[in-house]
Amino acid sequence: MPTYEFLCQKCKKAFASVCSVTEYEQRKQRGIKCPKCGSSKVDQQISAFQVQTSKKS
Ligand SMILES: [Zn+2]
Repeated sequence: MPTYEFLCQKCKKAFASVCSVTEYEQRKQRGIKCPKCGSSKVDQQISAFQVQTSKKS
């Protein structure tokens, strides 16, 4: 399962969420909230882990 990484714009708390793509889409529609301050202003970070999976050499 992919790991989704987020950074809260409000308190700068970084957090990660491991869930399926379907579950992630559902969460995104409801709004992803910071576990620390509860703010919904979170940026998604692109993790290196996801980039590596599509690389073929
Ligand atoms: Zn926060």
